[in-house]
Amino acid sequence: MKIAILSRNAALYSTRRLREAAEARGHEVRIIDALKCYMNINDNKPSIHYHGAELEHFDAIIPRIGASVTFYGCAVLRQFEMMNGYSLNHSAAISRSRDKLRSLQLLSGQGVGMPVTGFACKPDDVPDLIDMVGGAPLVIKLLEGTQGIGVVLAETRKAAESVLEAFMGLKANIMVQEFIEEAGGADIRCFVLGDKVIAAMKRQAKEGEFRSNLHRGGAAELIKITPEERKTAIASAKAMGLNVAGVDLLRSKRGPLVMEVNSSPGLQGIEVATGKDMADLMIQYIENNHHKKLKTRERG
Ligand code: ADP
Ligand code: GLU
Repeated sequence: MKIAILSRNAALYSTRRLREAAEARGHEVRIIDALKCYMNINDNKPSIHYHGAELEHFDAIIPRIGASVTFYGCAVLRQFEMMNGYSLNHSAAISRSRDKLRSLQLLSGQGVGMPVTGFACKPDDVPDLIDMVGGAPLVIKLLEGTQGIGVVLAETRKAAESVLEAFMGLKANIMVQEFIEEAGGADIRCFVLGDKVIAAMKRQAKEGEFRSNLHRGGAAELIKITPEERKTAIASAKAMGLNVAGVDLLRSKRGPLVMEVNSSPGLQGIEVATGKDMADLMIQYIENNHHKKLKTRERG
């Protein structure tokens, strides 16, 4: 097959591993920076240009679109899809998953557990919003944040009120969430491929920190997940329409709670923690599925 990896940087661990795995299985690989693509959208022969020339046809595309380039990256991916390229994750599913609030709303209709979450835009509504999620301590999240940046723990009601009012004053979109204290600063990353969890790791926040992101100094280790956690992770990826997903769960007294479904899960942390060849499994999945027609849910 001819496979395109949509990535801005060939040197990134995940991009490099996917290229190696695809080449080892006999595929031809080209790494393409979505921001350098421009598109001819027409009703006859849509095309994509790159460095002044038309791009050849690709059988499959592996999107590794960073959060900061979601809009342009998904537009380029959609163009590849219009040209009958199979995308490992569909552009519509990626855009859907990039909005944390929209994701939780979709998941809430699927019987998937999640921390109680509130959303409002007016400072007048702050007192009731805080009561809705059970009062302080609570977690405040900027909808646009990633890698733990923009996630704040407000320990008291006073702190919550002032942080919420400040963010609202800046017109930032924020959600408020019940703080799951018993998770003890740890979360579980389930790596879903198709209808299976192919690896899972526990990430533990460093001392004095409640955010377990590896980018925030968290440490990862191999973990065995429960059948309920497995079921939750698979249902979450399915609700978002993602074939590949990193589903982040908190272990709570009332069972697994989904925090986030990541459409471009990093390979480094999970391959190192579990010793599994995730890249090879992803390429195998493409080999087995690229010919399948998209279901309505996965289309734009
Ligand atoms: P990001 O998308 O920036 O990674 P998350 O929503 O995943 O943001 O939050 C970052 C980290 O903060 C999580 O991995 C988790 O460890 C911690 N965290 C987030 N929400 C909660 C919560 N409601 N209760 C307890 N810890 C949380
Ligand atoms: N792409 C990274 C990942 O999936 C970001 C999430 C994080 O900060 O842990 O691991």
